[in-house]
Amino acid sequence: MRLKDKVAIVTGAASGIGKEISIIFAREGAKVAIADLDQRAADATAGEIDPTGKRVVGVAMDVTNEQLVDDGTAKVVETFGSLDVLVSNAGIQIVAPLVDFEFAKWKRLLAIHLDGAFLTTRAALRQMYKQKSGSIIYMGSVHAKEASVLKAPYVTAKHGLIGLAKVVAKEGAAHGVRANVICPGFVRTPLVDKQIPEQARELGISEQDVIKNIMLKETVDGEFTTVDDVAETAVFLASFGSNALTGQSIVVSHGWFMQ
Ligand code: NAD
Repeated sequence: MRLKDKVAIVTGAASGIGKEISIIFAREGAKVAIADLDQRAADATAGEIDPTGKRVVGVAMDVTNEQLVDDGTAKVVETFGSLDVLVSNAGIQIVAPLVDFEFAKWKRLLAIHLDGAFLTTRAALRQMYKQKSGSIIYMGSVHAKEASVLKAPYVTAKHGLIGLAKVVAKEGAAHGVRANVICPGFVRTPLVDKQIPEQARELGISEQDVIKNIMLKETVDGEFTTVDDVAETAVFLASFGSNALTGQSIVVSHGWFMQ
């Protein structure tokens, strides 16, 4: 019970990495708000994790919408009485060569990753500063450290999260708030499953080549990172064991990109 009675908001928690983080947080004793685009998906995931509805709840929160983020965060604080952990995880991927990238798609991706991180952070800090404690965890990527073809806004946004985490670490220190970034390698979630055929098409190679020669090429063991690999790191960053870590980014990638 490494997170006994801690209260956490996990954005983008109805699927993939965010869902697994929520499952493991709940198993470790946390009360968890599953924040995602629509109430139905959020409630369904919350119900799967905690059928009693007492310790895990769904919250409709489009992270690009200031009002929904502020209201959703306030609702979580009202329901559970505090806010100890924010996992800013919601994200999308759009692949295309930079020279053809549509401006509207560029703006949409940056809005979800960066405006979303800003808005959820600001709402969380208002409560965490009152409590004089908190841990904020951003879902970065190896692409927060390393460039890649076809992913200009994604690489740009993920690099940006490291900057934001460093600012939160500095400003939050006086208020007992820490901020860190997890940088996963490729994880088989719906986000990646959609990307494999798109990337194959753009590069004129097979899906197997995308997996073998792009996604897993630089890992030490040829393995995908798993949702559990990422969730366990999130538990560490959320708990007192990581008390000395702030403003850091941790690469969780089976050896891809050694810093
Ligand atoms: P996923 O598609 O399985 O889940 C993403 C979730 O975010 C979905 O439930 C979706 O509804 C939600 N979401 C999208 N836009 C939203 C918005 N505006 N407001 C609220 N929720 C929104 O993807 P995933 O692979 O679990 O990705 C989660 C995070 O991990 C993303 O930030 C992604 O960039 C990052 N990441 C993923 C990988 C990977 O290989 N899968 C690797 C590194 C980093």
